[in-house]
Amino acid sequence: MSLESVARARTHQPCAACRTLRRRCDSSCILAPYFPCDEIDRFAKVHKVFGASNVIKMIQMVEERNREDAVKALVYEATARIRDPVYGSTGAVCQLQKMVQQLKMQLESTKARVLELQQQKDHFWGILLNVNNLDLLSTINGGNFSLDYDDSISYDPTKFPAECDDWII
Ligand SMILES: [Zn+2]
Repeated sequence: MSLESVARARTHQPCAACRTLRRRCDSSCILAPYFPCDEIDRFAKVHKVFGASNVIKMIQMVEERNREDAVKALVYEATARIRDPVYGSTGAVCQLQKMVQQLKMQLESTKARVLELQQQKDHFWGILLNVNNLDLLSTINGGNFSLDYDDSISYDPTKFPAECDDWII
């Protein structure tokens, strides 16, 4: 059988909707493009949740270029409603909103940690630079930096007036 004859045979097969509803499917069938004959289960879901006439009405309500997406959304909603009769697709939306909220909190906490680590890094860089400056000064003084330091503290100006009390008349 050639591809063309296969295609012709396929076009003569009733779509999944018409097979389920046991009605004649012709070229004017509005559901045929979205529910091909081998997708019975897909139509069964929207039929069970929304009812065939409502599905047709909802498809008719949107422009032809948006109908494919509308049908996908209806199938998604019907699947979710069958899986979760209480919340349907709202359950998935709420779960995703919770995840977004948790991820936002994680992001904020990670940002705070990054800031904290940045401040620690800056602090350590400051210490390292000071140590390097001390080494540099030590090198400039020919290695006598510590000796100069000792000289400067050998003189204690607070003791001088006390030692010279006898001199003041
Ligand atoms: Zn049909």
